Amino acid sequence: MIKKILIANRGEIAVRIVRACSEMGIKSVAIYTDADRYALHVKKADEAYNIGSDPVIGYLNAHNIVNLAVAAKCDALHPGYGFLSENPVLAEICAKRGIKFIGPSPQVIRQMGDKIQARKAMIDAGVPVVPGSEHNLESIAEAKELAAKIRYPVMLKATNGGGGRGIRRCNSEDELIKNYDRVVSEATKAFGKPEVFMEKCVVNPRHIEVQVMGDSLGNVIHLFERDCSIQRRNQKLIEIAPSPQLSRAQRDYIGKIAVQAAKTVGYENAGTVEFLLDQDNQFYFMEMNTRLQVEHTVTETITGIDIVQEQIRIASGLPLQYKQEDVNYRGFAMEFRINAEDPKNDFLPSFGRVTRYYAPGGPGVRTDAAMYTGYVIPPYYDSMCAKLTVWSLTWEGVVERGKRALNDMVVYGVKTTKPYYIEILKHPGFVGRKFDTSFVETHPELTNYSVSRPKESLAAAISAAIAAHVGL
Ligand code: ADP
Ligand code: ADP
Ligand code: MG
Repeated sequence: MIKKILIANRGEIAVRIVRACSEMGIKSVAIYTDADRYALHVKKADEAYNIGSDPVIGYLNAHNIVNLAVAAKCDALHPGYGFLSENPVLAEICAKRGIKFIGPSPQVIRQMGDKIQARKAMIDAGVPVVPGSEHNLESIAEAKELAAKIRYPVMLKATNGGGGRGIRRCNSEDELIKNYDRVVSEATKAFGKPEVFMEKCVVNPRHIEVQVMGDSLGNVIHLFERDCSIQRRNQKLIEIAPSPQLSRAQRDYIGKIAVQAAKTVGYENAGTVEFLLDQDNQFYFMEMNTRLQVEHTVTETITGIDIVQEQIRIASGLPLQYKQEDVNYRGFAMEFRINAEDPKNDFLPSFGRVTRYYAPGGPGVRTDAAMYTGYVIPPYYDSMCAKLTVWSLTWEGVVERGKRALNDMVVYGVKTTKPYYIEILKHPGFVGRKFDTSFVETHPELTNYSVSRPKESLAAAISAAIAAHVGL
């Protein structure tokens, strides 16, 4: 059994992993750069090591991180999400140095990280896949030819993409010509690889993804689906489990398909198979994420299964604790990504000092945050500073609880997406369970809310500043 884990990440997900370790009697080791000296994960872990002055580079240096894991006598490493979590080289270095990588094999990470290879594997497995490229596009001429065949609108996508970047919709040949070089340059800049491919654009789809878990003995189960259709610019904002838009028959069908997909590639540990559901209720495979997902909390909430603890057990070589027929779900869970952004100003990032923070509580409320009163949100990282997850037995109940908990939550000092989510929860289309990935774009009026913030007293602001300065 694993006894000590290095967490190769920061922010709320590093805190989440520390919590799992602590409940399992496992020691946790945090890493941090200078910008994160006062970050919550550093305070919560059993040990913490500085990995350099640059805010980001340290978190991306696989060799250094594994060296540190060895030096700190860790026997495993958890990559979280983002950063190196989908980098097969980290998993390889871990294997070489005798550190258990908490995730799938490097081969599977590599195969699924390349969306063309992933599409091929799924087509071979008999999984329905969005029509599109069989290999990377080599020229604009080839792109035009394929688009004429699969018909507009089409999507140009970075083959090694992630995080919603490097994706553009093209409604005509003119737009295709205009976007081609852009996507190639975005892909090169964001992912270090210029390869792009084409998919048919599924118009106004629902984003439905299935959580899967596989152990080292070849057992694979699913933990039902999540509906992540509430997105802005291909990035998720609100996630729901189970999808309020699926019938039980659709749920059973897509769960089986996801397990089939995971078994085909020999999947081990936690992973997510993402699908698009079109207006005619056809599912299409889109991609597989070979890591813990931001929105795993909603699945934990409806199933009662601690996904991070299960990941650690699997990496220790233990069999899955659950058979498919043992896994059930109850009610609905909804997660809100509390981003330090100003919805009224085109979601411009809003970093700086959190002068007051209060985590909401009460029945059916969970908060995963990386902040505290006095914490300064640094500008170098993702703008997500907390996740709020609510649960209720019914759909109507979870919508009401979401509003109540968002209203309960206090974040002063920076602007967040919190008030915007309350507007979404009031919208009849959302409440009526009829929404797709175009929802945010087609409802710009939802950012027209007014917020009345009580003025922070000078004393509160000064005490917060002192607290942050002394690293409380
Ligand atoms: P999830 O799929 O878990 O919802 P997101 O797509 O929101 O996750 O990504 C979670 C984090 O990981 C974000 O900070 C995102 O920018 C980052 N990320 C995801 N994929 C990649 C990638 N291929 N390269 C770099 N960063 C990524
Ligand atoms: P990433 O790796 O960045 O998460 P995905 O392939 O998962 O990229 O796509 C992210 C989002 O972009 C999807 O959730 C969906 O909203 C949109 N999208 C991607 N491909 C298509 C497509 N072929 N048709 C319509 N929307 C798409
Ligand atoms: Mg995706």
